[in-house]
Amino acid sequence: MNKYIVKVTLTQESRFDVEIEAPDEEEAESIAKNAVWEDDYADDIRRTLEITDENYESMWIVCDNCGEEYNIHEEECPYCTEYPRDE
Ligand SMILES: [Zn+2]
Repeated sequence: MNKYIVKVTLTQESRFDVEIEAPDEEEAESIAKNAVWEDDYADDIRRTLEITDENYESMWIVCDNCGEEYNIHEEECPYCTEYPRDE
């Protein structure tokens, strides 16, 4: 059994309607945008959040011997080959 570092990348999407009072539609959209970035819609965002894309990539392996992380394309831990430990 090996220990891997897996990079998880999720693309998420939220769609919801909000009611905003404003003099025109541009102002309404601007108010909505600010509210998003000020976390005012955090509950709406969480409630409607959907994962639209996902990616899982193992990039690193954690060495059993020394605990260092090294690239999965390496044959063996470069730290252990460079500085061999006595058994
Ligand atoms: Zn090692």
